[in-house]
Amino acid sequence: MEHLKVKHIIVCGHYECGGVKAALHTSDMGQLNSWLQTLRDVRRLHREELEAIEDEHARFDRLVELNVREQCMNIIKIDHVQRA
Ligand SMILES: [Zn+2]
Repeated sequence: MEHLKVKHIIVCGHYECGGVKAALHTSDMGQLNSWLQTLRDVRRLHREELEAIEDEHARFDRLVELNVREQCMNIIKIDHVQRA
């Protein structure tokens, strides 16, 4: 941030994301488990909201959106970002 004079950080996600879809299921994904853990944490944090969505595809889309929001929060918490 400071040395490279970064002014903007873009966090993006996309609908129909295979990673998010995998995180919605509890099956063992082998080497992907650690990567999926972040998404599963987002799912757990927002379990009540997600479980209230009856349509499975709408629930999937909402997890995509919540994940982008949570990743923005993670960036905001980084001390270098806060200083900048
Ligand atoms: Zn994806």
